Amino acid sequence: MLKFIAVEQHQPDKRPASQRKLDFAEIYRRFSLDRAQEQASRCSQCGVPFCSVNCPLQNYIPDWLKLTAEDRLEEAYNLSSSTNSFPEICGRICPQDRLCEGNCVIEADFHSVTIGAVESFITDTAFEKGWVQPIVPIIEKKQSIGIIGSGPCGMAAAGILRQKGYQVHIYDRYDRAGGLLTYGIPTFKLEKETIARRQEWLEKSGIIFHFGISISDQDSKHTLSFANLRKLHDAIFLATGVYKKKDVTVPGTNLNGVIQALDYLVASNKAIQSGNSSPDPMFNAKDKDIIVVGGGDTAMDCLRTAIRQGAKSVKCLYRRDKYNMPGSMREVKNAEEEGVEFIWQAAPEAFIGTEKVNSILAIRTELGLPDASGRQTVKLLSDSLFTLPADMVIKAFGFDPEPLPQLWNEPSLKLSPSGTIKIDKKTFSTSLDGVYAGGDIVRGASLVVWAIRDGREAAHQIDRYLSQKEKHSVEEKNTKEKVV
Ligand code: FAD
Ligand code: SF4
Ligand code: SF4
Repeated sequence: MLKFIAVEQHQPDKRPASQRKLDFAEIYRRFSLDRAQEQASRCSQCGVPFCSVNCPLQNYIPDWLKLTAEDRLEEAYNLSSSTNSFPEICGRICPQDRLCEGNCVIEADFHSVTIGAVESFITDTAFEKGWVQPIVPIIEKKQSIGIIGSGPCGMAAAGILRQKGYQVHIYDRYDRAGGLLTYGIPTFKLEKETIARRQEWLEKSGIIFHFGISISDQDSKHTLSFANLRKLHDAIFLATGVYKKKDVTVPGTNLNGVIQALDYLVASNKAIQSGNSSPDPMFNAKDKDIIVVGGGDTAMDCLRTAIRQGAKSVKCLYRRDKYNMPGSMREVKNAEEEGVEFIWQAAPEAFIGTEKVNSILAIRTELGLPDASGRQTVKLLSDSLFTLPADMVIKAFGFDPEPLPQLWNEPSLKLSPSGTIKIDKKTFSTSLDGVYAGGDIVRGASLVVWAIRDGREAAHQIDRYLSQKEKHSVEEKNTKEKVV
């Protein structure tokens, strides 16, 4: 260990931009065993590891780095998976520059330890070696839990609850597990085999998936009402994510060719998963001038998808500058390398066209003092209008929660002022007895690692609730028997 002075940082090799923009495969190559051991050996084994403090799961990072460097990979896997339900996924798509690696103490002078790449290497190896075995609970319990949503939050909760012996059912309107991991995040960041492997592992562990079922009060053979779902299970966990797209109120927002980011990404992911990389023409960027409006990770994913679909030009219009962007700097760099042009400090004023969009009218901006979020406020500069040609405009403004109490005819389900589900932060319980919630539907649009953390913690709280309920019913039965 402590080799950070002698050994340089090596992030996993990236495929050259000229090659990777021709396909949708992951852009980073995996570490070899030698490289993983070498990079893990750079860790200085801090007494107070800031990497762990800034990892939402508080992973035992220095410990599994040491075990990796010492070629004790199975032990490294056991330790890594004790705090993280899906280390191979987080290792690939966490914004490490803002979390563990960005806070590694050697970052300033020697560049951080490559924590994420080692983390995914450990669990990928564990799968290959057969160390990842299905969950076998010590005792089987009769009580069952209905989880709505098979994204990272729902899947993480399911794993913990199954370990505790409960009968776990996951309901999802999609046809496979993963939520945004499967249908939002593009394959060049996360190949879908990684998620399918986890779905299979959960199924082999005895978790039952009900795909193609939407929890909704609208009557159809593909729906189940929330009230009926509650009758089927002893507890419910809401992990439905956020899907209501934010929009702008500028002229032309409903023109043909002006589309929403998630619709675009879902269409692209579905086309790739069906073995055809060309989606419906409405969502195909080939030979078109594309403008993506927005500056978050979703915008970066759209830009890089358009490049891979063979767009004529791909531009990003963002109202702040590079340093105020919410998206990961690593993803901005990847996009730039692949040929995306960034137009900083510009906002849309109108989408122009008769039936179909043909250009954007944009206005320059000036940045003011930081607001409550820490990012600088935006002021529009008069007399600075300009136009850009556009055959397709992709709006990437983020997401709000759907109004679940209305959709589910459950007015007692309380919401926070921002419309997310209101929970007791310690217990993850909602305003309804036996109903818990976590992930994006509670936090608003967030990160996979936070969804995993919520799923794990909520599962422990559901276990406490069900154990107490079971204890009370046994006590009640005993009292009745004594009276008789
Ligand atoms: P979701 O992943 O959204 O899963 C919710 C599931 O619930 C879905 O499968 C949905 O079909 C199901 N569902 C919803 N309502 C119902 C209903 N009524 N009935 C049945 N099923 C229902 N995070 C990162 O950490 N790194 C990244 O690189 C990253 N990139 C992203 C890129 C994009 C384009 C987007 C949109 C998000 C990205 N995120 C990223 C954020 C991350 O994907 C989310 O924070 C995370 O997936 C939230 O997990 P979740 O389980 O709460 O919800
Ligand atoms: Fe870093 Fe994310 Fe892994 Fe935590 S879970 S160690 S933040 S990559
Ligand atoms: Fe190792 Fe960096 Fe974490 Fe310190 S902060 S324990 S050097 S990975």
